[in-house]
Amino acid sequence: MALKEVLIDELRDMYSAENQLVKALPKLAKGAHDATLKKLFTDHLEETKGQVIRLRQVFENLGEKPTGQHCNGMEGVVEEGADALEKDEEGASFDSGLVGAALRTEHYEIAGYNACISMAKTLGLGNVVTLLTANLNEEVAAEKKITVTAKPILQQAAKEPEEEKKPKSGKEKYSAKKSKDDEKAAARNM
Ligand code: FE
Ligand code: ZN
Ligand code: FE
Repeated sequence: MALKEVLIDELRDMYSAENQLVKALPKLAKGAHDATLKKLFTDHLEETKGQVIRLRQVFENLGEKPTGQHCNGMEGVVEEGADALEKDEEGASFDSGLVGAALRTEHYEIAGYNACISMAKTLGLGNVVTLLTANLNEEVAAEKKITVTAKPILQQAAKEPEEEKKPKSGKEKYSAKKSKDDEKAAARNM
């Protein structure tokens, strides 16, 4: 497989990731308590729709179709956002969980675009590099905005009282068991 084919796979993965976020961001916007955070998610949703369109332009440039690969990584990251939305925390603590999930999505996207841009540069695909860099810049800006918006939210959350321990849900129990398995599997290699 040549680099061009690797790039196309990576780009299809990004296309799937962005489409998944078009579906997930309204849920984060709806769930956020803080008005600034809510607006940030809504604004980034609009940007994300533009990113999907830019990726279609990338594929047009390459004469390839954008579908063909589902991004499992983003599915996992989105799933963690859904977990954060299920938490029954107070306002700022709840929002802090959403911030954590949102930062993970941005960094995952940033890594993906950086990889694609390096490949497109190597292949001398200037137009593709320009389009991908526009998306990358929006992700980097989004990450910064989330970090700035989060600051007072985290400070507020630090003042909220700790909740009394509630019995774990089935999903939480499963997650706790898997985390022990992760530790055990690592122990063999430590
Ligand atoms: Fe994006
Ligand atoms: Zn992926
Ligand atoms: Fe993003």
